[in-house]
Amino acid sequence: MEFLRPTTWGDALAVKAERPAAVPVAGGTDVMVEINLDRRRPEALLDLTRIPDLAGWAPEDGWLRIGAGVTYTRVIEELGDRLPGLAQASRTVGSPQIRNRGTVAGNLGTASPAGDALPPLLAAGAEVVLASARGERRLPLAEFCLGPKRSALRPDELIAAVRTPAATGPQVFAKVGTRGAMVIAVVSFALDLDVDRGRAGTAIGSAGPTPLRAPAAERFLEGVLADGRRLSDSAVRRFGELVAEAASPIDDVRGTAEYRRHALAVLARRALSQAWADARGRRR
Ligand SMILES: Cc1cc2nc3c(=O)[nH]c(=O)nc-3n(C[C@H](O)[C@H](O)[C@H](O)COP(=O)(O)OP(=O)(O)OC[C@H]3O[C@@H](n4cnc5c(N)ncnc54)[C@H](O)[C@@H]3O)c2cc1C
Repeated sequence: MEFLRPTTWGDALAVKAERPAAVPVAGGTDVMVEINLDRRRPEALLDLTRIPDLAGWAPEDGWLRIGAGVTYTRVIEELGDRLPGLAQASRTVGSPQIRNRGTVAGNLGTASPAGDALPPLLAAGAEVVLASARGERRLPLAEFCLGPKRSALRPDELIAAVRTPAATGPQVFAKVGTRGAMVIAVVSFALDLDVDRGRAGTAIGSAGPTPLRAPAAERFLEGVLADGRRLSDSAVRRFGELVAEAASPIDDVRGTAEYRRHALAVLARRALSQAWADARGRRR
């Protein structure tokens, strides 16, 4: 197996154009597991860890551009105030060792519906920046994820970055697993609330072929926000029901479809109550 180690972004894109079968490696926390378990035997690995362009994040036209090499640990330490939902999700990923190596772009590259970084990004309306020797294109995250572990990434493309609006209100991420840590989500939920603009973003993880939004729940919540009403218990309950209805779960080793829907309604209710209290605290 060849190990290709470009040191510039231009070289990495040229290698990917020439060798589309080369498998990119960022933190390796998914790729190396696949190789160790003999699920994959690529002819070449394309190591992206030496490319300075991927290592940073920066504000860009009111958004935040997070380079493909940025790890979960850095999201937690450097972006917790700007992207609390993504930081909260990052804290639940694996162990410190996995968070030190693993990247948000690697989570996108794997495109698992259980990937913890995906719901907060989807709820916020993030987009993926894809690059090849032919140029750059941007895709909304909802269009990037095509199915379980299937994405819109073309063979000659690499993920350059993910772009997401900075939080303009409370963001909450919640996850249910079979234990408290080092666990793949049985189900997860992200909420992004912009009280001033009356916008609500939601995303469901691990209960469908891709992370899913819950549009009816979002419209319902936006109606509550527009009314300026106090958040009633019945509104919280209805929101939970609408989120659960938007899911498309299956029975598998981690949980049944029925349990997933139930847990989602609970997570959504908790997330809304927490976000609402947070919004009220900000207004004071
Ligand atoms: C013990 C353990 C615990 C884990 N716990 C969790 C968890 O709680 N939650 C969770 O979501 N995940 C978890 N994971 C999975 C993994 O850590 C994450 O999916 C992580 O985000 C992968 O990032 P990485 O940088 O290591 O990706 P890599 O393994 O390097 O790559 C993952 C995929 O993305 C592709 N890729 C990487 N970078 C690029 C790029 N720039 N352009 C194009 N393709 C690219 C690779 O080719 C590969 O297909 C766990 C893994 C382990 C081993």
